[in-house]
Amino acid sequence: MVQTTVAYARELDEKDALATFRQEFYLLDNKIYMDGNSLGLMCKRAEKTLHELLDSWKTLGIDGWTEGERPWFYLSEKVGEQMASIVGAQKEEVIATGSTTTNLHQLVAAFYQPEGKRTKILADELNFPSDIYALKSQIALKGYDPETHLVRVKSRDGRFLHEDDIIEAMTEEIALIVLPAALYRSGQLLNINRLTKEANKRGIPIGFDLCHSIGAVPHTLHEDKVDFAFWCTYKHLNGGPGSVAGLFVHEKHFGLEPGLAGWFGSDKEKQFDMSHTMTPANGVGAFQIGTPHVLSLAPVIGALELFAEAKIDAVREKSLQLTAYFLQLVEAELSDAGFVIGNPVDDTRGAHILLEHEEAARICRALKEDGVIPDFRAPNGIRLAPVALYNSFEDVWQTVQILKMIMEEKRYERFENKRGVVA
Ligand SMILES: *Cc1c(COP(=O)(O)O)cnc(C)c1O
Repeated sequence: MVQTTVAYARELDEKDALATFRQEFYLLDNKIYMDGNSLGLMCKRAEKTLHELLDSWKTLGIDGWTEGERPWFYLSEKVGEQMASIVGAQKEEVIATGSTTTNLHQLVAAFYQPEGKRTKILADELNFPSDIYALKSQIALKGYDPETHLVRVKSRDGRFLHEDDIIEAMTEEIALIVLPAALYRSGQLLNINRLTKEANKRGIPIGFDLCHSIGAVPHTLHEDKVDFAFWCTYKHLNGGPGSVAGLFVHEKHFGLEPGLAGWFGSDKEKQFDMSHTMTPANGVGAFQIGTPHVLSLAPVIGALELFAEAKIDAVREKSLQLTAYFLQLVEAELSDAGFVIGNPVDDTRGAHILLEHEEAARICRALKEDGVIPDFRAPNGIRLAPVALYNSFEDVWQTVQILKMIMEEKRYERFENKRGVVA
């Protein structure tokens, strides 16, 4: 029997070893935030490091590049080191740079080397649009037709991917594979180790988009021999809107020419020689392009400190408990409200749950009106992410209670079933 009382939720909160991290965050007044998989909340450490970097500009001017507590010239590498342990990488394998989409462009420009029969890129039909746009444009830049050269593995049910289907699609025509670590709608986690083994066996480079898993799910990129990976830092990592992204290249590829070169990819000792012949950095740093976005990197430093303290395995453990509890309450309290659970219910679920409903758009509006911040995904998805570092079990309990009231009283009927501009 599922315990549906608030007392039980509070009992779970009392036993929660990560409970104190909630005080590190600015929670929104009178709101239950369930949207940390789109934009993580601001934490006090992020605010602090942002202020520190602003101050270094104020007090040092140009000398901020090499002086002060956090010289800007080495910041991308330092933040890369901070992220390396979260993704199971060596510290030389990760750099903080660019955005998710520009990093994908950079990596594909280097790893997509069509030759002979191998000319196509393998992706999936459930991936995030930006990744697909980037892949299509890279194919076109190489002179091929994106319609025939981007192969998208089909989903059997519109929610999940079968790894067997992906492996079957790794044919002799495939020159590169790009997949998400966690699907952005259903949250399904793919088995990176298995897929990488199969790709490597066939000599096909494989890369993963970690946007929806980083900061919520541990990775072992180095050990798994993943060729490359990339991610944003503003979702579960709480780096702030538009914060600088992450890029991983396995050390076996050090020395590979970056596809899109720029002076910040230089060996740091040589960069200011101002030579017209570039000497690339030895490690992943070679994949940087221009001057780092120092002020968008600044909050990431503080936000990542929390992960060093909490430890990513503990974050995952609590996250699984939160979503398990959420799913149990949905089953107990909302069984006749017409929801279909769209996320995997086993341990291949990521860090959010997906409730599908034909009235999803206006149910989301009603949730917002009643103080719960959800995330609508057209046409019928309500994503709800209880985040281990700042959400409580009581938040989950309240969310389900509010949703139950909305469904029983049909409170969503006051709204049009249409999405907003940002949804
Ligand atoms: C969030 C997200 C993006 C966003 O890309 P940006 O370049 O940061 O705008 C791309 N791909 C996936 C899978 C995402 O989840």
